[in-house]
Amino acid sequence: MIQFPQWGCFFDFHTMPSCPQVGENFDVGQFIKELKSANIDFIVFPARCNLGMAYYNTRKGIRHPSLEYDLFGRILEACRQAGIRCSAYLNVGLSHEEGLRHRDWLTTWPDGSTYKGDRMNNFFRRMCYNSPYADHFCSMLQELTDEYAPDGFFFDCATINPCIGSECIREMKERGIDWQNEKAVFEFARLSRDRFCQRIANQIKQANPNALLYFNGLTFQQQADLGNYLEFEALGRAIYESLPVKAHYARKLNKPVLNMIGRFHKSWADFGGICSADALEYFLGYGLANTMRCTVGDHFHPRGDIQKPVFDLIRTVYGKLQRFSDCYQDAEAVTEFALLTPEYAFDYSTLDGQKALFALWGAAQMFDQMHLLYDVITPNMDFSAYRVLVLLDETRIDPQTAERIKEFLQNGGKVFCCGQGGLALGSDQMLLPLPVQCLGTSPCNPAYISVKAEVCPEFPEMPVTLYHQGMSYRAQPSADILASIIKPMVEYGWDGEHGNYYTPPDKENGDAAVIESDNGILFSHPLFQTYRECSQPCFLQLTKTLLKRLLPESILEIRNFPRYCRTTLTRQKNRLHLHLMNFHPESPSPSVVLVEPPGVLTGIEVRLNMQDKAPTRIYWADTGKELPWQKTDRQIQFEIDRLQGYQVLTIEFV
Ligand SMILES: [Zn+2]
Repeated sequence: MIQFPQWGCFFDFHTMPSCPQVGENFDVGQFIKELKSANIDFIVFPARCNLGMAYYNTRKGIRHPSLEYDLFGRILEACRQAGIRCSAYLNVGLSHEEGLRHRDWLTTWPDGSTYKGDRMNNFFRRMCYNSPYADHFCSMLQELTDEYAPDGFFFDCATINPCIGSECIREMKERGIDWQNEKAVFEFARLSRDRFCQRIANQIKQANPNALLYFNGLTFQQQADLGNYLEFEALGRAIYESLPVKAHYARKLNKPVLNMIGRFHKSWADFGGICSADALEYFLGYGLANTMRCTVGDHFHPRGDIQKPVFDLIRTVYGKLQRFSDCYQDAEAVTEFALLTPEYAFDYSTLDGQKALFALWGAAQMFDQMHLLYDVITPNMDFSAYRVLVLLDETRIDPQTAERIKEFLQNGGKVFCCGQGGLALGSDQMLLPLPVQCLGTSPCNPAYISVKAEVCPEFPEMPVTLYHQGMSYRAQPSADILASIIKPMVEYGWDGEHGNYYTPPDKENGDAAVIESDNGILFSHPLFQTYRECSQPCFLQLTKTLLKRLLPESILEIRNFPRYCRTTLTRQKNRLHLHLMNFHPESPSPSVVLVEPPGVLTGIEVRLNMQDKAPTRIYWADTGKELPWQKTDRQIQFEIDRLQGYQVLTIEFV
């Protein structure tokens, strides 16, 4: 069995060919000492970077011209002696120097060019996987597996490169693919990419079946049969939105997952940018609280200079998190809600994918802010163990999925459908047993929602704007209408004479906005995309209220815990771990998220609905200090008198 790394460090090392003195200052002993002092057990280091420069003694590739020794080999050997595993990084889709020297290895884009877009964007020149580059790449792999045998491989930028070069055109013609059709060329490029990755994976597995193997650039499901672990990679503001989604999703794919957070202030290549310890702790802690493991992204200095503050940062943060090491081994998430998303949400190449992803981002933010326990799943996954299935804004379904959801409902589950959630793929027919009829896209632009006062007393007693266009639903008599649609007095838009910008609410148009029935609740508009973009607090409150109607008794109820705080529950054999995070992230400028030093929260009330189970003790995981608790009927109650930053509370059973 492969022992999976726990505390990693990932080194970018893209070094311009003109860079002098590569590796000249490098002290491998000092480097290992820094890694050991942070208890790092795994690194990824480039054997060949995206510029096509190799850092080992290659006969096939191009070793960096100013590097005078086998840098990768030296690092690998030193890691081996220190008991630190080391994976080789190779860039699959980019290899600039090799592309410069072999124009016939490059992708010829459908417009006939080999360079595309901004020259300062690394992706302007890409390799063709059907050209002789493929054999060349595999020959470098062979050198590495034969002569170095690293512990694993990280393959980066396995991009889809639509190409009309001679090899690609010939094969498309042979296969009867319309090479003049942009979409067909793209799909062939996808096939070529997948086939090349499969070849790479086969070669590695043949050399070492236990090698750690990950492909960056394929979605997690696209590499289901290729690699044996996953890495989530994001930087800057993107982490804030994508980490919650990937953290709750990747764990459903039956592979260990590393959460890679960069040490930078902005993004990769930000040599002089460093994030705060609070930010690193927050994002890594969030991953750990969701059963991921850690790795920190860094950029190795070309000369080999060791940036002390970077290692100090990693050591400080890992030191804090390693207090809870014992809680993470084989831990599983405890969840009640499943956010059901179409799989294409993770495929960035389509516009639909983007809308579905935005819905997912918004939903994950909402569920985090409501402190609900959830997973993100796709229709091919098992959802029988959840109590509420949330069909997000864009989650149209096929008849097979509808049948499985019906079975889920028959077994006592509930659904919460939003926007197009639950409708058929090719029509606006509702496929789930909900007493509603969909009349197509809502005619109102904008639509307003009027919520019955008794449903959610906190919701404003006025028509409130629904900022995105939704669907038009009518309720059947057996259903309860909890909220109605109010049409505008004037439709937004240009009418030939006036730009109708002022569109006040008028009166009901007969459409229902929120419909409740025995099987669940339907919300007519894309609630989650709107929340992602507009974050209206009243919709957070309304959603919380509606979900409470579906699941009156949650496993975890937490009070006096602001919405910027995070909590999750994980399970290990006879223990539950309550992860509590009191950090306050903010985004003062478009590209960064700052995390303020954590303040102190007091008087947090926690209730756990444990059925008949009673714990033997409840204690802080780091100090072992016990907490008093009470058992009432089916609940365990306790109060946390002080919380600062990230803490784990353990609830132990017999
Ligand atoms: Zn090609």
